[in-house]
Amino acid sequence: QEARFRASARDLTAVPTTRRRTADRPPAGDRFTSTTDSDPSLPEVRAWAAERVTAPVGEPASPVLGTRAEVDAVVARGRAAQPGWAGLPAAERAAVLRRAADELEARRGELVTLMAVEGGKTVEQSDPEVSEAVDFARYYADRAIELAPGASLHTDGARFTPHVLTLVTPPWNFPVAIPAGGVLAALAAGGAVVVKPAPAVPGCTEAVVRALRAAGVPGDVLQVVRTDEGETGRALVAHDGVDAVVLTGAAETAALFSSWRAGRPGGPRVLAETSGKNTLVITPAADYDLAVADLVVSAFGHAGQKCSAASLVVLVGSAGRSRRLLRQLVDAVRSVRVGWPEDLGVTMGPVITPPEGKLRRALTELDPGERWLVEPRPLDDSGRLWSPGLKDGVAPGSFFHLTECFGPVLGIMRADTLDEALALQNATAYGLTGGLHSLDEREIDRWLDRVDVGNAYVNRHITGAIVQRQPFGGWKGSVVGPGAKAGGPNYVAQLGTWAADGLPA
Ligand code: GLU
Repeated sequence: QEARFRASARDLTAVPTTRRRTADRPPAGDRFTSTTDSDPSLPEVRAWAAERVTAPVGEPASPVLGTRAEVDAVVARGRAAQPGWAGLPAAERAAVLRRAADELEARRGELVTLMAVEGGKTVEQSDPEVSEAVDFARYYADRAIELAPGASLHTDGARFTPHVLTLVTPPWNFPVAIPAGGVLAALAAGGAVVVKPAPAVPGCTEAVVRALRAAGVPGDVLQVVRTDEGETGRALVAHDGVDAVVLTGAAETAALFSSWRAGRPGGPRVLAETSGKNTLVITPAADYDLAVADLVVSAFGHAGQKCSAASLVVLVGSAGRSRRLLRQLVDAVRSVRVGWPEDLGVTMGPVITPPEGKLRRALTELDPGERWLVEPRPLDDSGRLWSPGLKDGVAPGSFFHLTECFGPVLGIMRADTLDEALALQNATAYGLTGGLHSLDEREIDRWLDRVDVGNAYVNRHITGAIVQRQPFGGWKGSVVGPGAKAGGPNYVAQLGTWAADGLPA
């Protein structure tokens, strides 16, 4: 055990550049562990949540905009309020954000409960998500101070002007951390924000907004609104008074938003983190025990519904012929405990809706050459609870090799060499996360030099980026816009314009 720990710690220090982030773990105390340690039972969750819930889980309270005039009014209100917010000294805005961290922390039970109820997220997954939101608040508070006039970023004579109004459109899969991150960043920059919750999880976003308001963010500076998915949604996204749109969602949605916002003087200003098709490579120099554990967490955490999730594993050389490795992997997949999040002992919850389209195909069909090692099955009548799937024989260029399916299916590919594995890994249109399990220093260097992903992890699971340590974002088709990474040093600074002193921003 100790030898293994040393091995992964050493790998960490071997990867110093921004692309090279790896087997890092949160420090002790970063994570709130009592939930996953407690006895799994429904009354217990209720008692646990009741102790901590600060507001009841009710119907969503945010207005649903029904007309163009209502959209205009929301935009006008945000723009009118922004100068007052931007006019505060940066240290005061930062203090509000730090209070927001405390308010989010104080609402941990409520947020975890909402994520379970609305999004089907297990406590094991939702609890660290609250920590991520808290981390965003503290981290972006520091960035607000860096952007203040006279601060270090200004030494080259450039002047920062925040976008007046930013629209944040978060996804349903991280219903607390991602809206919190987008909103907090825009607020740190000095902008006003409208946040439009993902339709499946409005209560989570509203709870985040309540926390931020309690911390002192004025109501007009941060508005939460819902729209229909048709005309008013488009009117808001395309609105002239919305300077930038922060989106986390499918690549198709980012393309749609960009097309709606084309032709604006400043460009579309859609800042999007989008899809991924993420691969973990295991070489014969890997510690197979660690590799299998990290792979299963990466593939089946939140039922694979993460942009960062592992969807493919490439086994290199003799790793691909190792019966021991394959047996370990099959056993690990079979032992994933699936259930509804009220059960604290489950490691995999439901998918967000009964699978359709690409996910349905991935769960129920095999392409030529593929076979199930563990066949996924629906576990109840809801259509949402599936056991995890493991398919072998995924062929280069096939549907499952290249398509993001966003669910609990993992495919196995094989390669003779690390370079062949890299070719398979880099063949997709996306470049979000990727992993390597190897204890061989030369393999690690070679892989890090060649892998085309935003977040490259060595000897670690490939989900769950940690704020500041592993700024999160993609390359290639996984990113739209300037592409500064969430939880990284430039994220807040991209929510405004830069100009040399004396020139208009
Ligand atoms: N930041 C998350 C992670 O590192 C992924 C976010 C997403 O799926 O959009 O796992």
